[in-house]
Amino acid sequence: MRSFSYLSNPVRVVFGAGMSGQVRDEVERLGRSRVLLLAGPRLREVAARVAEALGSLVVARFDGAAMHTPVEVTEQALAVLRENSADCVVAIGGGSTTGLAKALALRSGVDQVILATTYAGSEVTPVVGETADGLKTTRSSPEILPETVIYDVDLTLGLPLPMTIASAVNALAHAVEALYSPDANPVVDALALEAISGIASALPRVVADPLDADARGELLQGAWLAGTCLGAVAMGLHHKLCHTLGGSFGLPHAETHTVVLPHAMAYNASSAPEAMKRIADALGVTDAPSAVFDLIESAGGPTSLRELGMSGDDLAKAAELATAKPYPNPRELTKAGIEALLDDAWHGRRPATSPLAELDKLTAQVVASFGNADDRIRSLLTDLVRHLHHFAITNDLTESEWQHGIDFLTRTGQISDDTRQEFILLSDTLGVSSVVDLMTNSRTPGTTPSAVLGPFYVEGPPAAEHGSDLAQGLPGTPLWVDVRITGPDGEPVPGAVVDVWQSNEDGFYDVQLPDLDGPVLRARFHPDELGGLTFWTIVPVPYPIPDDGPVGKMLDKVGRHPFRAPHVHFMISAPGYQRLVTQLFVGGGDYLDSDTVFGVKEKLIIDFAGQNGPAPDGRIVDGKWRKLDFTFRIAKSQAAKSQAAETGADS
Ligand code: NAD
Repeated sequence: MRSFSYLSNPVRVVFGAGMSGQVRDEVERLGRSRVLLLAGPRLREVAARVAEALGSLVVARFDGAAMHTPVEVTEQALAVLRENSADCVVAIGGGSTTGLAKALALRSGVDQVILATTYAGSEVTPVVGETADGLKTTRSSPEILPETVIYDVDLTLGLPLPMTIASAVNALAHAVEALYSPDANPVVDALALEAISGIASALPRVVADPLDADARGELLQGAWLAGTCLGAVAMGLHHKLCHTLGGSFGLPHAETHTVVLPHAMAYNASSAPEAMKRIADALGVTDAPSAVFDLIESAGGPTSLRELGMSGDDLAKAAELATAKPYPNPRELTKAGIEALLDDAWHGRRPATSPLAELDKLTAQVVASFGNADDRIRSLLTDLVRHLHHFAITNDLTESEWQHGIDFLTRTGQISDDTRQEFILLSDTLGVSSVVDLMTNSRTPGTTPSAVLGPFYVEGPPAAEHGSDLAQGLPGTPLWVDVRITGPDGEPVPGAVVDVWQSNEDGFYDVQLPDLDGPVLRARFHPDELGGLTFWTIVPVPYPIPDDGPVGKMLDKVGRHPFRAPHVHFMISAPGYQRLVTQLFVGGGDYLDSDTVFGVKEKLIIDFAGQNGPAPDGRIVDGKWRKLDFTFRIAKSQAAKSQAAETGADS
């Protein structure tokens, strides 16, 4: 059992497009009225709009925030704050501007409203890192935590792409390290996983279209969640290393995070397998470190410390600094180990923590090969390949198991012919036919549910007269069928064609009996003008699907019976309506709750009522007979619906 303690950081968060318009309300909500407005130089236009929204509340402005919160800059801003008796800072920008707001709050107790414009996450942490005399010191306290954060997605649309990519990976790093933090807990785990999948899904879309507001929104939301992780639990090797590289070698903050993250993950992978598995699952891949590297590389982010301007001669020194003081990390920190990590990061090598790292690349290659297909085909094949690869990987499939699968499919094909369709049996017994069928049903609520076609339908059944007998003297309990075809509102459907087919008393369809001379227990009817039709047949009985082939072997292997609940098949077509393929099941029949093709639906179980005495058509029946009385409601076709909508008719 897991032990943990958890403290949440109370920040009010306002999230959405255009939310910076609420800044005045948010300041007033805190009971403040004298604002010092902080904004970075690249955000002048945004700052002007926010100043306008704040109106008379702004008493001063300061635009000099700098990376790593230099104390001398804080002193200048503090003087401005005091001169103007400000009681609140409103900061517009990334981690640097937020850092200045925090440093001011720490010294003066003013409230902070932060409008975050990058994905750094600093706005939701009670931590500030300040530099004095070239030394960066980190402080944490509740006063440092901003009171309110406004995430206005519109403010992030103009964040330049290189900064976007680096900042997004900076956020990703918070979530990754939270999952193997010594303080990890279920709340933070959930936030971290949501952040990882959100960032990984949104980043490529933002790269494709930096003005895609939805993708920007998802990225910003992921960054907020990741920042919340950063504020709640201790970080490990990755953050420490980036701190060292930024502080002692002047490397840029977010870009350094971007280069180092895959390598820090690879270093920790063997000591944090559970966290890596969860990260890989959230990314939909097999090997998390290499997948993060691929994500960065394909986005066009930096992948080597060399390109960030670090000298190869500094690697040993950096490794020494990063391991000088012990700190919690899943894997023991050794100077040689960190030096090797930095060497990989400096060269920009793709990390490979296991032979499986190649698998994600392989899947990506296959998916990319569908690039020229039309949208629907590409999407279906992509998903199919991803699921198949995932199936093989997660089950650690052996070559002989896969060969067995191929043999099984080969035999399924070989036993199929014009009258035996083993692939339909396979689809039915695995429930896939019913999945497709249920989804089709869900598109036409209020109509008679459909059911699987099954393998025994034959095109062009013989036409039959109303009242005729499909059984043609075959043994079985006589069944009088009296059904009507209507539209969704009960209106008669003109011109319908109804095909009916069923098994005989021994559970066989005519196509399974080679000695039969022509079709039996199958017919085509043309209902009357009110949509009605009647005929005689026999009460269907349960029957086993053909189980002498590979599908039967499969059922036997898993201890499943091959029986279908007793039913009559109907296929109903009419001009202007969708075709309905369905089955009516005999109420009280066997196997209703274990139908081997999972085809039974509650609304299709009908009382085939027992009768005595004369039949409705005057036929004298010797003994008992049964009656099936049912109304089918069929859905209008899409074309008919659109036409009705265009003419304003009631559809
Ligand atoms: P940043 O705040 O330094 O911003 C980088 C550049 O991007 C700046 O020039 C800025 O003006 C510009 N910019 C920001 N948003 C923009 C936008 N929407 N459009 C155009 N330009 C924009 O970078 P950062 O990565 O957000 O922050 C880095 C700093 O934050 C570092 O000092 C780091 O140590 C600190 N940080 C602290 C914490 C914490 O919890 N204390 C967390 C993360 C980062």
